[in-house]
Amino acid sequence: MPDMPTALLRGLRGICPCCGKARLFAGWLRVAGSCAQCDAPLGRVRADDLPPYVTIFAVGHIVVPGMLVLEKAQTPDLWVHTAIWVPLTIALSLALMRPVKGATIGLMLKLGFGQPDHHA
Ligand SMILES: [Zn+2]
Repeated sequence: MPDMPTALLRGLRGICPCCGKARLFAGWLRVAGSCAQCDAPLGRVRADDLPPYVTIFAVGHIVVPGMLVLEKAQTPDLWVHTAIWVPLTIALSLALMRPVKGATIGLMLKLGFGQPDHHA
C-alpha cells in the first residue's frame, strides 16, 4: 500500500489505490470486485454515504457563495439565478461523484477496510 496522498490521488483518478495500474471502477460508480493487476479487494470496501455527503458539501460550498456574490453584485432576476445555479449544481455533482468515491475507496483501503480480518 502506498502513502496516503498517493492512495487518495490514485482513487481520485479512478485507478487502483494500491498499485495505480488498473481501473478502480467497473461501471460509472460501481467499484471493481478486485484489482486486475494486484488483486486488491476493492469491491469489499463499502464507501456507503461518504461520497455523496462529501460531494454535496463541496458543491454547496461552491454554489451558495457564488449565488450570494452574484446577488450582491448584480441582483439579477430569479430566472437568471435558476438558469445558472441549477445546471451548475447538477453538473458539479455529476463531475465530482466519481473522483470523490474513488478517493474514499483509497482512504478506506489505506485505513485497513476491506482486509479479510476487518469486520466493518
Ligand atoms: Zn491494484
